[in-house]
Amino acid sequence: DVEIKGAFKQFGANVVLNGIDLEVKQGELLTLLGPSGCGKSTTLNLIAGFLDPDRGEVHIKGNNVTKVPPYKRDLGMVFQTYSLFPHMTVYENLSFGLKLRKVGKAEQKKKISKALELVKMSGLENRYPRELSGGQRQRVAISRALVVEPELLLLDEPLSNLDAKLRHELRAEIKRLQKEIGVTTIFVTHDQEEALSMSDRVVVMNAGKIEQISTPTEIYNHPKTEFVFQFIGKSN
Ligand code: ATP
Ligand code: MG
Repeated sequence: DVEIKGAFKQFGANVVLNGIDLEVKQGELLTLLGPSGCGKSTTLNLIAGFLDPDRGEVHIKGNNVTKVPPYKRDLGMVFQTYSLFPHMTVYENLSFGLKLRKVGKAEQKKKISKALELVKMSGLENRYPRELSGGQRQRVAISRALVVEPELLLLDEPLSNLDAKLRHELRAEIKRLQKEIGVTTIFVTHDQEEALSMSDRVVVMNAGKIEQISTPTEIYNHPKTEFVFQFIGKSN
């Protein structure tokens, strides 16, 4: 479904991605796991099209999309920090992407009501982001990414600003939602427990390279490198 082939990326003298090869399967929840600065967000940005690799290619659905702008890639994205438009209500935040896609008013209303219901936010259509809790904002951000029914959902540490209890709740919800809709999802986190509990497969990254790609059980029971062993063994 999504394929990264031999991707290199450097910022100045800093080599951030040092030859990344990755295949994401249709309908799976794949997690990029690794310490701060290892290149997770950069990898996601290559897939989204916010960055181009210096060398290598990105393919989506068999098409080479290298240099295709983000809005033509049919994806929904939730960023590391809150990414709602502050001056728009919840409803307006969700209708934004639908308007761009020329969806009619009545159809917008239906889609928005369904997308808010999925994340248990029905009834809060008229609130502004500042009138919502952190968890509610993240729910709306996820709902806004889903409302356009993307082929691909990219989630960059969507739970990182939340307290432990809410993080656990939303974790379970994202997993349920992902399976219910069947949308191919790439989830980024530096929390190994989160990665192991949510994913179909986990990609362990370190310093711009992939150390191991496997199911959570396989990673837990058979870490392939010393780094994976150490990183998975660490508890928060
Ligand atoms: P975190 O868990 O902290 O979000 P990450 O794995 O997402 O980390 P990236 O954001 O991909 O890490 O960054 C990888 C490296 O690239 C870091 O050293 C970062 O400082 C550097 N970097 C990222 N974006 C840029 C940029 N636009 N210009 C210069 N350096 C950058
Ligand atoms: Mg990041």
